[in-house]
Amino acid sequence: MEVTFRCPSCEKIGRRRIDEETTELACDHCEQRCQVPSGSVGEQSLARCVICRSHDLFIRKDFPQRLGVAIVVIGSLASCIAWLRYQVFLTFGILFTTAAIDVLLYLLVRDAVVCYRCGAHYRGCDEWDSHGDFDLEVHERYRQEAAREEALSQEGPSPHENQRA
Ligand SMILES: [Zn+2]
Ligand SMILES: [Zn+2]
Repeated sequence: MEVTFRCPSCEKIGRRRIDEETTELACDHCEQRCQVPSGSVGEQSLARCVICRSHDLFIRKDFPQRLGVAIVVIGSLASCIAWLRYQVFLTFGILFTTAAIDVLLYLLVRDAVVCYRCGAHYRGCDEWDSHGDFDLEVHERYRQEAAREEALSQEGPSPHENQRA
């Protein structure tokens, strides 16, 4: 399978093929190397994120969202124009075609597994059964955790400085 991840050190996006044999992931842009815990990657499964080691992963359709939105927008505009010209059949024809293309795309695209914590994307695996769909609660927990870490790192090494003033 393939992982797309943001390097924890230089924050650039990298892409790597991984399998059961992978023990280390190197960043393309800097010296950073992530050790891959053994047993994380199966032949057709993923037990945990190999970048941040989190076990919280969710499945989502690997749908090109901009393309989906573009199709809907174009379809809506075209059907509006047809409607204004009193082309009733054309209007509904366009709407149905737009919907059909969206459904077809949805069926064709494969699933990807995404890490809640670091956002790494895993593609090219058929058995994602061990992971659930997106859960807003879990996402929120990780978002708050990240926000806290961000706040801490911005405060600098001496967080008591403010209290004295
Ligand atoms: Zn890097
Ligand atoms: Zn992760």
